[in-house]
Amino acid sequence: MSATDQNQAQVQLLGRISIRAKLRALSGLSIGGGDLYSGCSGLDQTVVRDPITREPYVPGSSLKGKMRSLTERALGLNLKEVERPQDPRQQRFIHLCGRAEDYQGSGVLPGYRGCPVCHLYGSSPRNFAVLPTRLLTRDAFLHPDSRVMLLKRTAELPFTEVKTETLVDRISAASTPRQRERVPAGAVFEASWSLACYSRGGEDLQDHKLLALFFAGLALLEDDYLGGQGSRGYGRVAFEEVQASVLQTRALSPEAAQLLEGLKGARTVAEVLKVTGNPMQKS
Ligand SMILES: [Zn+2]
Repeated sequence: MSATDQNQAQVQLLGRISIRAKLRALSGLSIGGGDLYSGCSGLDQTVVRDPITREPYVPGSSLKGKMRSLTERALGLNLKEVERPQDPRQQRFIHLCGRAEDYQGSGVLPGYRGCPVCHLYGSSPRNFAVLPTRLLTRDAFLHPDSRVMLLKRTAELPFTEVKTETLVDRISAASTPRQRERVPAGAVFEASWSLACYSRGGEDLQDHKLLALFFAGLALLEDDYLGGQGSRGYGRVAFEEVQASVLQTRALSPEAAQLLEGLKGARTVAEVLKVTGNPMQKS
C-alpha cells in the first residue's frame, strides 16, 4: 500500500479519553498577551485575561506549545526554522515531519507506529496528507476557590500582583525599574484535555499509547516553567488531582480500557507515569 493509499483509508474515531488536572502556580505566573490594562496601567508586561470576566487564564495554546517544545527537545527530534524574521530573537524552530515516511514510519514511542509528536500535537505539511491531531488542549480557567482567594487581596489590579524589577546597565550601573503583572503563587487553574483514538482501514492505531508521551510532557513542564521569565523563577507549576477517563467510547480496545483502569488510583503525574511508563526514561 502506498503512502497516499494509507492516508485515504477509512479513518474512524474509536473513542476519546478525557484528562483533567488542577494546575497550581507554585511561583508567580506571567503569561503575557492581554493588553486590557497595558495602556492605562503603565505596566511593562500584563497577563492574559478573559475579556468578559477579566480573570487571568492559561490559554490552551500556551500549555500545548510549551509541552510540545519540551517534548521535542527531550526526544532530540530534528527541528526546522518556521519563521525567518528580521530580528533573530524572534526566530522559531519546531519539529515537523517533512516526509510522509517519517510521519508514518517507526517512531520513538514503543509500540506506536508513526512520529508520536506530530500525531499527538498535530502537523500541517503541504506535501502529504495527515491524520487528525489527537490532542485537544482547552483553556484553563481559575478554580472557584482561587477566584475567591484572589478577590480578597487588595491589589492594584483585580486577581493579580505587580512585581517591580530592576534592570541594571552593566557599564554605567544605571538602574531602570520595570513593572510586571503576574498571577500570584498559589492560584489554581482547571486544566483539561481530550485525546482522540482512531482506527484506519479497520486497524486500531493504538493512540491510547500517546498518553505516556502526554504525561511525560506534563512532567517536563513541572521541571521547567510556564509563561515568561522562567529564568527569574516565574512560572513553576504542578499538576494535582489528575484524572483520566473515557469520555466517549465506541470501540476502544480492551488494552486501552485496561490502561485507563490502571490509572484510576493515580493522582499525580509521577503516579500516572509509573503505570504508563515514561518514554523519556530509557531503561
Ligand atoms: Zn514528527
